[in-house]
Amino acid sequence: MDRPLTIAKIAIASPLRTLFDYRLPDDFNGDASGIVGLRVAVPFRRRQVTGMVVAIADQSAVANEKLRAIETFIDCEPLLPPALLELFIWAAQYYQYPLGDALLQSLPSALRRGDGLPELQQKYWLLTDKGMNLAPNTLRNAPRQRALIDLLADQQRVEDKLLASQFSRAIISLLENRQLIAAQIVNCEPPSDAGMVLRESPLALSDEQQRAMNAIELRRFNCWLLYGVTGSGKTEIYLQCIEQVLHAGRQVLVLIPEISLTPQTEQRFAERFAVPLVVLHSGLSDKQRLLAWSRARSGEAKIVLGTRSAIFTPLAASGLIVVDEEQDGSYKQQDGFRYSARDLAVMRARREDIPIILGSATPSLESLHNCDLGRYRALYLNNRAGLAKPADWQVVDMRNQATPEGIASDTLAAIEQTLARSEQVLVFLNRRGFAPAVLCHSCGWVAECRDCDARMTLHRGRNRLICHHCDQQLPPPPQCPSCKSPQLVATGEGTERSEMRLQQQFPQVQVLRVDRDTTQKRGYMQQVFNTAESGVPCILIGTQMLAKGHHFDRVTLVAILDADSGLLSPDFRAGERMGQLLTQVAGRSGRGRLAGRVLLQTHQPDHPALNLLLERGYRAFAEQLLEHRKIQQLPPYRHLALIRAESGNAQHAEQFLRRAREAAGQLAAPSPKLAYLGPLPALMERRAGRYRYVLRIEADQRSSLQNLLRCLMPVLDRQPQQRHLRWSVDVDALEL
Ligand code: ADP
Ligand code: ZN
Ligand code: ZN
Repeated sequence: MDRPLTIAKIAIASPLRTLFDYRLPDDFNGDASGIVGLRVAVPFRRRQVTGMVVAIADQSAVANEKLRAIETFIDCEPLLPPALLELFIWAAQYYQYPLGDALLQSLPSALRRGDGLPELQQKYWLLTDKGMNLAPNTLRNAPRQRALIDLLADQQRVEDKLLASQFSRAIISLLENRQLIAAQIVNCEPPSDAGMVLRESPLALSDEQQRAMNAIELRRFNCWLLYGVTGSGKTEIYLQCIEQVLHAGRQVLVLIPEISLTPQTEQRFAERFAVPLVVLHSGLSDKQRLLAWSRARSGEAKIVLGTRSAIFTPLAASGLIVVDEEQDGSYKQQDGFRYSARDLAVMRARREDIPIILGSATPSLESLHNCDLGRYRALYLNNRAGLAKPADWQVVDMRNQATPEGIASDTLAAIEQTLARSEQVLVFLNRRGFAPAVLCHSCGWVAECRDCDARMTLHRGRNRLICHHCDQQLPPPPQCPSCKSPQLVATGEGTERSEMRLQQQFPQVQVLRVDRDTTQKRGYMQQVFNTAESGVPCILIGTQMLAKGHHFDRVTLVAILDADSGLLSPDFRAGERMGQLLTQVAGRSGRGRLAGRVLLQTHQPDHPALNLLLERGYRAFAEQLLEHRKIQQLPPYRHLALIRAESGNAQHAEQFLRRAREAAGQLAAPSPKLAYLGPLPALMERRAGRYRYVLRIEADQRSSLQNLLRCLMPVLDRQPQQRHLRWSVDVDALEL
């Protein structure tokens, strides 16, 4: 006879890789299987904490008298749909991260604390009878109040947030107190007219787009790689697929790398569709996030647009996932729960049996390989949509050129011609600050970070030396600390210096710098977009922030100031990243009617990889990289996990990994199918005062790597810890 299910296995935020067993409350008399996915309050050590029931069982390894009981059920229905809970369970195992932490960290903070779901309501303002009958000349001396009354008279009702964006809260509450306006709370309900999906009509697709569209089958799981050059109209295909899914009454999850850089994406979705849309990203307040999350969960929000962590948003009726710029590194979380949102998106779609579209002009080698294996299906868009033409590349040989500020005279001449035609220029340099090194002309002293193996970058605007790895900041020394010579020179170029150089050369045009330093000012990006869109001739200079997403219709020249750094890195992915970045930057040009030109400054004009990219494009370039990876047995042909350790004491970090390697070797002996490399110092050995070491594990089969890690983690957890030692495991690591 089966024993009754009386044990709940509960996920609690805790570094322990385990679920915790609790008894059901004594007075529980429902169906125990119905409690999976509910949040509960349970006693944990000496506190009460919020957990989530992950499974139920008929017995526990813990003695019965030691088991404590669930105190209360916080939810009356599962907070997460079962398929999403299963995805969490799978992901926590796969990425070797504690399930409780993974689950609870993903929840909006109020829910993590144990609060109930918010009521999904919207607040509107309207005129009271008194407000409606207000004589036209009253409030003549209070024009803002009058304007608010007039707005409501005209629009009948205005949503609270919208109103507050135009009028101060003080004015709103003043008029409320005078009973001229009143708030109205409306429950959000799914729009009653399911047919009302579009706000504007879709574009007529090109033949190529139509072929891709016809191939995409939206009824069940399939992973499509929409491989289309920049500007080929991928977004239009997402929009038309989404339209179909919305008509079927289902929801769509769209992941994009970064929202602040691509306000156009949100705008395009909002302009196209008449359905409720929520946006999820790190810039939201706790309250906004809770509301957006809840509207997605309830099914009210039909489109969920978000960055990496949005992959964990519950959806009542999911119908499609889109991952734009699927190669983007920001989809991989770099600390804590080191998941890949792109890979989880594919996993989620498979579990929910819905289609997924990965879009890119420069797909990752992983995704291209998955196409070769037949797991994903590639759809190509080889032409730019509308009237835009492909850009014309040109190499500027920097060898033996006098280029004191890193900009060749050919490049300056091309910029000048472009501006003279009243067109716009984009200058790309992936290095912020003024100069990446400060050195002494007399003795050769170099300003280095005290805590990292790195040089300090000079930021002139802020008058600081800043370490870009640990953010340490110092005032620049007035003289050489070593020989007291006053002859300190800032060498090399960052965006700040190039901005200055360009502004000197072209004093009559606006030079707009876009990097992490300038974009911290609120509204700055919008100002840049507005200027660019106004069409005035201008120069945009920036880091990779400029490479992403945004269309600049009037940019006809792109100048890449330094193509060399990507060619020299020891990271095996550097070539892939360089190819993607250069192709993307180039894609910013000539998006409108005007033809584009790309200048690429390099000291290695004959570099074979660079030439392949320039002459035959990203596709041929990527195929060759894949060939190399295959020969060298690197990802995606092998699966990679890194165990990292860092400590103020280099030996402690190294020793820990030595023991990890021994333990791993005992669990699975090294073989041609499973290799251990290291421990080796990380590419930057010392960072923020800690020495960093890496043990690399490579396997032919995902499963053998997984089996090993599953057994290895508990062994490492049990290691007596050196003080100040931190370690982590990174499955499918992107950064070495
Ligand atoms: P991608 O996402 O591939 O970079 P987009 O979808 O943003 O490309 O399209 C680039 C530009 O081309 C946009 O301005 C878009 O409005 C336009 N466009 C896309 N498809 C069509 C079409 N079928 N007809 C006319 N213009 C189009
Ligand atoms: Zn000196
Ligand atoms: Zn530092």
